[in-house]
Amino acid sequence: MPKIIQLSQHVANLIAAGEVVERPASVVKELLENAVDAGATKVTVEIRDGGMTFLRVTDNGCGMEAADARTAFLRHATSKLRTAEDLAAISTMGFRGEALAAIASVSRIDLLTKTAASLSGTSLHLEAGVITEESEAGCPDGTTIIIRDLFFNTPARMKFMKSDTVEGGKVAAAVQMQALAHPEVAFTLLRDGKQVLSTPGTGELQAAVYCVYGRDFAKMVPVESRWDGYTLTGYVSKPTDARPSRSFQTFFVNDRPVKSKLLVAALEEAYRNQIMTGKFPACVLRLTIPANAVDVNVHPAKTEVKFLSEKAVFDCVHYGVLAALNKQTDRPQIQFRPNTTPTQPAKEPAPAPKQQSFFRTMSAEEYKTFSAAVKDAPQPKKEAAAAVAAAVERQLQSSLRESVMTPTVFAPIPAKPVPAPPVQVSEPETEQEELTMPAPIPWRMVGQLYNSYIIVEQGEDAYLIDKHAAHERILFEKLKANQEAISSQMLLAPIPVRLSADGAAQLIANADLLEELGFEIDEFGDNTVLLRQIPMDLSPDMAAEAAESLAADLLRGRRERKDSVRDELLHTVACKAAIKAGWLSDEKELLALVKQVMAREDLKYCPHGRPICVSLSKQQLEKQFKRT
Ligand code: ADP
Ligand code: MG
Repeated sequence: MPKIIQLSQHVANLIAAGEVVERPASVVKELLENAVDAGATKVTVEIRDGGMTFLRVTDNGCGMEAADARTAFLRHATSKLRTAEDLAAISTMGFRGEALAAIASVSRIDLLTKTAASLSGTSLHLEAGVITEESEAGCPDGTTIIIRDLFFNTPARMKFMKSDTVEGGKVAAAVQMQALAHPEVAFTLLRDGKQVLSTPGTGELQAAVYCVYGRDFAKMVPVESRWDGYTLTGYVSKPTDARPSRSFQTFFVNDRPVKSKLLVAALEEAYRNQIMTGKFPACVLRLTIPANAVDVNVHPAKTEVKFLSEKAVFDCVHYGVLAALNKQTDRPQIQFRPNTTPTQPAKEPAPAPKQQSFFRTMSAEEYKTFSAAVKDAPQPKKEAAAAVAAAVERQLQSSLRESVMTPTVFAPIPAKPVPAPPVQVSEPETEQEELTMPAPIPWRMVGQLYNSYIIVEQGEDAYLIDKHAAHERILFEKLKANQEAISSQMLLAPIPVRLSADGAAQLIANADLLEELGFEIDEFGDNTVLLRQIPMDLSPDMAAEAAESLAADLLRGRRERKDSVRDELLHTVACKAAIKAGWLSDEKELLALVKQVMAREDLKYCPHGRPICVSLSKQQLEKQFKRT
């Protein structure tokens, strides 16, 4: 007859180890969480052979008394949780009290620990979870734990380990994650004797991001938004700094690193029409939401997360990131040196705070809000605001006048641009927010390079505008803003376009959608369609090419969402209708383009994510000529 037996402590720990301790990186994650919980401000991780033979974590946290050090290795030994109720309100990282027991059961451990209150520390040695040596020891305040020969007694598990390089890489990723989660702690990682990561621990997320992601990310866009009890903070990359994979996307929910398709989707939605297909934004985003709106306790060692309201989370991230991207005003600078790839060790100092962009003009929308605010503003401010408004008005007027007489000069550039007084604008639902709006700085179109790039001078900056990209974006925005069908031109003679069988079928099947875009298409047979009407902006010479591209978009987009397919089609129409690089364009046409680019902040990238305008400062040029 079978007898029910209770599992021995050791077997129970081994089972737990299977859950918590998957590989060196999971050990590191647990140990780092313990160090942070212990209040450490400096944590050093050192590994050899990917962490399999040697893994040491040293912290300057609170340390443990001798008795506590012994109990720490017992299963369900924790100083962080006493009752089931605590679970709901738990704020520390670890909470099951089994990490140390589990790790100890599959390795050999040396522990050195000392509290500030005691004169000497404690040294423990454990083999497979059993304490074999204990002594008093002289050591600094804090805890050092060394894990040797991980999985030495579980050969089956050992077989699942990948190469040292792969395991070491996962350890590095685990340290990076903690470094981003805790910018207030200085983390250092040594891999086979070489320092590969070091964060300053100043508490500034930007500094941690810089050290972890590399200097390519020094100019990320700050995100800060509040949404109905939800808070989103962090940094996202500019659309032009997109990466070929999602490996630079890090999310935290209530300080815990999480993996979530929902968060990825919300982030990427904010970049729609601004980023090239196959490229991904980078981010470090921290979402703080009420504790009862999230269930992070799905699995102790995993990073899954369940949200009460997925819609609220999606909106918070989507709109928060979108707002940050829209606020960002500076344009990419001309690079004289090739871009460097991100490196792990950061020897450079943290970047200086972002400079107030010199390039800042008002969009029509802002001007409306602005002049409305002027009406309501209290008296003294009203005067200041009115002065700015008048300056803006004068500028616009003179621009128009000048453009008729001398098409390339907008206004003489004053020796010193007039500084504009700050204007208070009260927004209906938020508290008073300060909004400074410098008067637009005069600019002039200097000329064109290679029939492709328009040169504009403004104060101490020069801009090169890609005329095709700019025109494409302007047309795209115009087409997109059109709620009804796009206005089209009837062709005197229909244009036949021969396509692949698939392509022709797609165009015919989507005739309705194409009609909204200004195309009228008929079936002609033999894989040929007839274009009877095309969008107004599209030249008939480009119509056949446009139809082919639309067919390709439709074929590719069959499985995608309808609105993203529509956007893709709009890109194509805009691209085909836009003036091309290399084409001769007349000056008036170019001037009209420049006017829009200089006035509208939303025109930063073409619909495929390429920059429209790059800047070259006088200072950069002077540096090239060794004048500084
Ligand atoms: P948990 O973190 O869930 O409490 P662990 O097994 O990870 O469980 O740790 C057990 C206990 O050991 C902790 O509650 C804490 O009191 C103590 N401890 C572990 N690591 C450290 C450390 N680096 N510094 C101080 N105390 C620690
Ligand atoms: Mg723990």
